Amino acid sequence: MMHIFSMKGKTKEMLIQPLADAPFLYMPLLKYAGSVPAPIVKIGDIVKKYQLIAQIPEGVNWASNVHSPVSGMVHDIKEYPQADGQPLLTIVIKNDFKETETVLQEERQGYTSEDIIDLIEKGGVVGEGGAQFPTASKYRLEGRQINTFIINGAECEPYLTADYAIMAERTEKLFQGINILNSILQAQDVVIAIEEQNKELQKIFAPFLRKKEFEKIRVFILSNEYPQGGELQLIKSVTGIEMPRNQRPRDVGVIVNNVGTIYAAYEAVVNSKPVISRIITISGEESEYCGNFEIKVGTPIGHILNLFGLTTNNKTIVLGGPMMGKAVTDWSIPITKGSGGVLFLKKEKFKRSNCISCGYCVDVCPMHLMPMKFEEYFRRGKYFNLEKYSISSCIECAACEYICPSNVPLIESIKEGKIKLKQLADAIQ
Ligand code: SF4
Ligand code: SF4
Repeated sequence: MMHIFSMKGKTKEMLIQPLADAPFLYMPLLKYAGSVPAPIVKIGDIVKKYQLIAQIPEGVNWASNVHSPVSGMVHDIKEYPQADGQPLLTIVIKNDFKETETVLQEERQGYTSEDIIDLIEKGGVVGEGGAQFPTASKYRLEGRQINTFIINGAECEPYLTADYAIMAERTEKLFQGINILNSILQAQDVVIAIEEQNKELQKIFAPFLRKKEFEKIRVFILSNEYPQGGELQLIKSVTGIEMPRNQRPRDVGVIVNNVGTIYAAYEAVVNSKPVISRIITISGEESEYCGNFEIKVGTPIGHILNLFGLTTNNKTIVLGGPMMGKAVTDWSIPITKGSGGVLFLKKEKFKRSNCISCGYCVDVCPMHLMPMKFEEYFRRGKYFNLEKYSISSCIECAACEYICPSNVPLIESIKEGKIKLKQLADAIQ
């Protein structure tokens, strides 16, 4: 791991504000492990805010429900581009700006573990840290014992302060959400992990930590290193456990959830509110308007450009953080449940040189890989050699490319290399 620039000061003190709704919302039907939710509306249907529009098909585990973030009409259902370049079937809702809502169940008290998992699944809660893994699946423990529940407040990418804003402003609901989820896990060690640069949060947490109902919860201060918020790095820092390859955290008695996910789970369980919005950071040196905003899922990037009167000249627009986020050029690409930010950055021109075998990329790789080998074998078309060097263990944190003095295109080689390997594996089957 390594120290990188922060840039969080631009938005850290800024209170969450609502962002005006877009006229069209693009709701991608996210694929996970080959599973995809099925649309239950058709073009021309009138929909209400919070209404279920795509649902998990019978017998499928790895999909999540999708709800309309506004009231209006189903305008289109077809494949639209996404930030990662892979098009996805998308339901487009034309907003009528009337905010007509479906009736949500009354606030409830008292639920079993099965009720909680069911409500999280119904509400379409997914991992908001980026991966968008369906949260309900994580809590189906199948008899496993969980010793440690880690609440990931690390948010180690530069610029992003959306999780910080949740921890600072929505503290009570976050703590209640932790207790609700831990009523399933029954972990004895419940840890909110935050970075040293955010340690003032301890003062905000203090009155909650003193309460009997939150007595199991403690705060763990992480060093300001990148990628400290990566699941495996976090588990190592908090518990000392080095995760074996090909195992999941729950196999070693640990569950990790991002703070945004826990907040969403609270709303789904207590208020029956499905996920239709999230907190994001809008920032970057090319945006005059920076801050933390509550924004509807499905809002296209073009709407943010219009609202802020921004042009695309000389800017790189990134969905997510500057390290792991995706540069986007299609303005219909939407905010998803896993998008932590939209950044407007200066366009950089890289002078690429050859690898000088300095080994810096190896030193910083949190997964103990040899990133220069990925570039070499990708460039030479020796795709099967990529797996010899465990390319599938790469978490695409971009630390190697950040440190490289020759600007070798490591991340591009890694991403493209993974695609080539998958194509080859599919062709062999
Ligand atoms: S940091 Fe760059 S130049 Fe150094 S070994 Fe890695 S790829 Fe080569
Ligand atoms: S090889 Fe992968 S995991 Fe290692 S530093 Fe590069 S992007 Fe991160």
